[in-house]
Amino acid sequence: MPEQIRAIRGVRDILPAEAPTWQTLEAAAREVFEPCGYRELRLPLFERTELFARGIGETTDVVEKEMYTFQDRSGESVTLRPEATAAVARAYIEHGLFTQPKPVRLYTVGPMFRYERPQAGRYRQFHQVNVEALGEAAPALDAEVVGMLMAYFARLGLADRLALHVNSIGDAACRPAFRAALAAHLEANLGRLCEECRGRVGRNPLRVLDCKKPDCQPVIEKAPSILDALCGPCREHFDRVRAYLEALGLRYEVTPRLVRGLDYYVRTTFEVLTGELGAQNAVAGGGRYDGLIELLGGPADPGIGFAIGMERVALLLGPRPDPAAAAVLLVPLGEPALRRCLALAQALRATGVPTEVAYGGRKLRGELERANRLGIPRVLILGDDELAAGVATLRDMRSGEQRRIPLREAVAVLGGGPAAAGDRA
Ligand code: AMP
Repeated sequence: MPEQIRAIRGVRDILPAEAPTWQTLEAAAREVFEPCGYRELRLPLFERTELFARGIGETTDVVEKEMYTFQDRSGESVTLRPEATAAVARAYIEHGLFTQPKPVRLYTVGPMFRYERPQAGRYRQFHQVNVEALGEAAPALDAEVVGMLMAYFARLGLADRLALHVNSIGDAACRPAFRAALAAHLEANLGRLCEECRGRVGRNPLRVLDCKKPDCQPVIEKAPSILDALCGPCREHFDRVRAYLEALGLRYEVTPRLVRGLDYYVRTTFEVLTGELGAQNAVAGGGRYDGLIELLGGPADPGIGFAIGMERVALLLGPRPDPAAAAVLLVPLGEPALRRCLALAQALRATGVPTEVAYGGRKLRGELERANRLGIPRVLILGDDELAAGVATLRDMRSGEQRRIPLREAVAVLGGGPAAAGDRA
C-alpha cells in the first residue's frame, strides 16, 4: 500500500465541525468593522521578500528566523506573507489609495505563514483578521481602532474573558535615548539574561522586554520604563489616547513592557490577552506605524492597525451550533414519492430550511436511525399511497410523536412560512 501523505507540521485543516465557529469569527468582523467605515481588501498570499525585510525590520524574529522564503522559477525571492500590514501599505501606495479622503479604513482576513515551533495555539499557517486605518495621526483614531477591536470581542461574547493592555513606545525623537538606556541596563546584567536575549541586546534591545523566560524577568523588572522617557509630543499623544479610551468606557491596563515584535511600531501599542490559553496568551495586537508607508516608498502617511489571531479566538469561542444543519429529512417510500420529495426539498431549501432527502436503499428504520445520528429533529415520511391521498407523516424525532399533515402545507408546517406556499401540492 502506498504510504499515507499527511499535512505539513504546524499546518492544520479547519474541519466542517469547526466551520460554524470560523464563519462566526468572519461574520463578526464584517458586522463590527463595516459600520465603522472599514472596507475589505483582499491581498495576495505572497510578496517580494524585500517588502517584509524592509517593512518589518531585518533584525526582528519574524524576518530573521520565521519567513517562508523561496526563489520562484525566475529566480526572484518571494515570501509567504508572515503578516498583513506591510502588504496593506504596499497596496495603499501601489494603487494610490492615499489620494482618497483620510483616514483610509481597510480590513483583510486570511492566512499568514511563520516558521515557528508549533504548539497549542501556535501554528505555521494561521489566520488573522487585520484592520488598518491609514493617513491620519489623530489620537482619537487610535481610540477608534482599539475600541473597535474590543467591540469585536464584545460581539463574540468574549469581552469578560480578555484584558486590554496599552502602551506607548515613543518615536524617532525619544526612543533612541530610551533604547540606549535600556541597552546599558541589559549590558550591565548580561549574565542574568537567557542566551537569546544576550544576542538581542546589541541588535534589538526592546525585544528583551518581550521575553517570557523566567530567567530574564528580574532584569526586565528593573529595566527603565519607556513611559518615563517619552518626549512631549509622544506623552501628549498617549495621554489623549487614554482619555479617549476612557470616554469609550473601555477598561485597560498600561503595560510599559509591551513593545511588540515588529520594528515599524511607534507611539501607541496594544495587546489583548487571555488567561485561558497557556503560553499563547495574546489573541490580538497592534499599534501605530507612522513611518512605515514612507519607508516602503510611499507618502509620509501615518497608520495604525491590529491583527487578531483567529485560531486563538476560535479556541476561546469553542464549538458553535451549525446553522446549516438539516432541519428535516424527507423519506420517500416509493418512486413517485421520491420525485415529489425532490421537488419539496427544493421548495424548502429555497425558503431557507436546510433539508435532506433519503435516496432509498435503506428501510424506514434505517433512515430514522440516520436522522438520529445526524441530529435531524424532524422527518417527513411519504408513501406512494399517502402521496395519492395528498398527505404525509411528520415525525418529531425527540418525542417520537407522529402526525399526518396535508402535503400542500408541508412547506408552511416545516418552517418555510406561508410565503413559501409556492410549493405546489
Ligand atoms: P502579531 O502579528 O505577531 O502581532 O500577531 C497578532 C496575533 O496573531 C497574535 O496576538 C496571535 O493571536 C496571532 N498569532 C501570531 N502568531 C501566531 C501563530 N504562529 N499561530 C497562531 N496565531 C498567531
